[in-house]
Amino acid sequence: MAKLVLASGNKGKLREFAQILAPLGWDVEPQGSHGVPDIEETGLSFVENAILKARNCCEHTGLPSLADDSGIEVDALNGAPGIYSARFAGPGANDAINNAELLRRLDSVDLRSARYHCVLVLMRHAEDPVPLICHASWEGTILDAPRGDGGFGYDPLFWLNDQQCTAAELDSAIKNSLSHRGRAMQQLLQALS
Ligand code: IMP
Repeated sequence: MAKLVLASGNKGKLREFAQILAPLGWDVEPQGSHGVPDIEETGLSFVENAILKARNCCEHTGLPSLADDSGIEVDALNGAPGIYSARFAGPGANDAINNAELLRRLDSVDLRSARYHCVLVLMRHAEDPVPLICHASWEGTILDAPRGDGGFGYDPLFWLNDQQCTAAELDSAIKNSLSHRGRAMQQLLQALS
């Protein structure tokens, strides 16, 4: 098995990537098990932040590394929260506080269109001049009150017109087949195979 380091400490992500990549002969390990320190996400776009994370991981491990960066873009807010989705309401904000902040900013706003984005970056080494980049997005609209208790983040506010429910009301396997992250992962799989 060839080793691939995941530039994240998130156990859920590790499990998903490991399951998808194992059949291709990749053994995915978390960056924590290699002592890789987190870096500050100073980029101004998802792709920049994903490259920063993957490169940091390659530098510390000398191994190929995979990073992801994701968030939600809301049209009426000029694309916010965007790359700041996890910390929209300030440092240390949790999902409920971020969702309340989103509703506050969209109070009396009619334009509710939004989309999730996920960018995956795979770098073979720290100086890799051609990182493998996969991007997928998922269209929805922002409700004015939360619905459902599945998923995470902005899912209870993210209404899906085709499914007539929020992302937080979807079965997780269905969410994975439709979502920005799930489809970016499928692209990665195709590119690698
Ligand atoms: P990260 O990619 O894990 O850093 O996620 C960034 C942030 O974007 C999360 O903390 C959520 O606020 C938001 N986000 C990304 N993907 C999703 C999703 O699938 N559902 C809900 N929120 C998401």
